[in-house]
Amino acid sequence: MSDTLHKFLFANAPVRGEVVQLSKTWQRIQQHHDYPPNVMQLLGEMVAASALLCANLKFNGALIMQIHGDGPLQLLVVECNSDLTLRATAKLAANATLDPAADMQALINTHGKGRCVITLDPKDKLPGQQPYQGIVPLTGTSIAQALEHYMEASEQLHTRLWLAADKDTAAGLLLQQLPTEGGSAATHSDHDAWDRATQLAHTVKPEELLTLPPAALIHRLYWQETLQHSEARSCEFKCCCSRERVGNMLRTLGQEEIESILSEQEQITVHCEYCNQRYDFDAVDCAQLLRETAAGAPSQTRH
Ligand SMILES: [Zn+2]
Repeated sequence: MSDTLHKFLFANAPVRGEVVQLSKTWQRIQQHHDYPPNVMQLLGEMVAASALLCANLKFNGALIMQIHGDGPLQLLVVECNSDLTLRATAKLAANATLDPAADMQALINTHGKGRCVITLDPKDKLPGQQPYQGIVPLTGTSIAQALEHYMEASEQLHTRLWLAADKDTAAGLLLQQLPTEGGSAATHSDHDAWDRATQLAHTVKPEELLTLPPAALIHRLYWQETLQHSEARSCEFKCCCSRERVGNMLRTLGQEEIESILSEQEQITVHCEYCNQRYDFDAVDCAQLLRETAAGAPSQTRH
């Protein structure tokens, strides 16, 4: 089974782990894009990390991971839903010249203003409930380090990540030290487990993350440990764009802007930046959209 996420728990210690390996999903994300290799790698690592973090969420909804840059790479964004469907895209600055050897800091954090934002957006929000959002400055030299810092600062969770991506596969391993609550210490007799687990994980090479089946990787690392395994979950690409959402986005441009575009071209064409689906709006469609705005149609927050 390809494109799966495996979860495991140390039997005698508050340590949990996950391994994810995405091929079809990752290839589908890149289908309509030709990212430079260093951008592709950063986005792939974020895709793997998003699945790993999303799989631990307790609510039905989406995890949206964004890295905002102030250099040639302006935005990396991954959306992962509770059912582990994902979409992702990267946005380069207009006329950006990319150094193929540029690392994460040079690509995203040129002036030190890069930041990492994670939004948790429950599907069924209570009236007035806002999505939860955490923002931290972009630190470290890798996506893994940036997210470890995020988890420490924003969630107070000791998290370690090992991520890898090439053109064909995006993969990752996550270890997390669970908070010990009063009374549970007795059941967690294995106090060295966290150190042991992370030391063993340090021996993982990127090519092992990319090529070893997740179950084999977990066995290769932790065959001497007593683990509890959850059933593997499958992951796949899915874009949630729709004509309605694109229409809502167009509405935010306002009447003047829309009429100005239509004076120069017959219709407004929008391609979804995630899946490249094409949406056309001619003068009649636009007039309809603007009438709905005048009638007070609810505005959409997320396209
Ligand atoms: Zn789409």
